[in-house]
Amino acid sequence: MSADFSPADEAFMRRALELARGGEALGEVPVGAVVVANGEIVAEGFNAPVSRHDPTAHAEILALRAAAAAQSNYRLEGATLYVTLEPCTMCVGALVHARVARVVFAATEPKAGSLVSARRQLESGYYNHVFAWQGGLLADDAGAMLSAFFRRRRAEQKAGAGNSTNGAGLPPTPFSAMESE
Ligand SMILES: [Zn+2]
Repeated sequence: MSADFSPADEAFMRRALELARGGEALGEVPVGAVVVANGEIVAEGFNAPVSRHDPTAHAEILALRAAAAAQSNYRLEGATLYVTLEPCTMCVGALVHARVARVVFAATEPKAGSLVSARRQLESGYYNHVFAWQGGLLADDAGAMLSAFFRRRRAEQKAGAGNSTNGAGLPPTPFSAMESE
């Protein structure tokens, strides 16, 4: 992973973090994404599988769909996608199909991250197109948001259990153990 990011990269990731906070306000795991083409944001999305009743409604997928619709083109050649968490297998696949040029993510996802953490999907030899990627931009901000979200949710579950035995029995859930983005 490279640490070479431009001020523009940081600005776009800050917008993705804002989107993640918007999702969090709806009770979603806070992950946000933006698609940038020709130096401008052309689409945005945040993780929303619960509120949309859609298992595919990850931030990246929603941003890709919106970008493709906005450009009337399912291929987003030359585009960069910024996302606050390392993409999962589904999203890496979608990003390949979209032909994006570059992906920048913030926090790594040790359990399900599919670029560098749990697996290195682009190195599988399976794809005839791959994209460039960089991780770690504003990772502390994204990681803190996710950690706070899961800490709060554990506390709520504990309170909801109404039984200290059950509460104490809950396993710790680091954000690396997330089921979805
Ligand atoms: Zn995903």
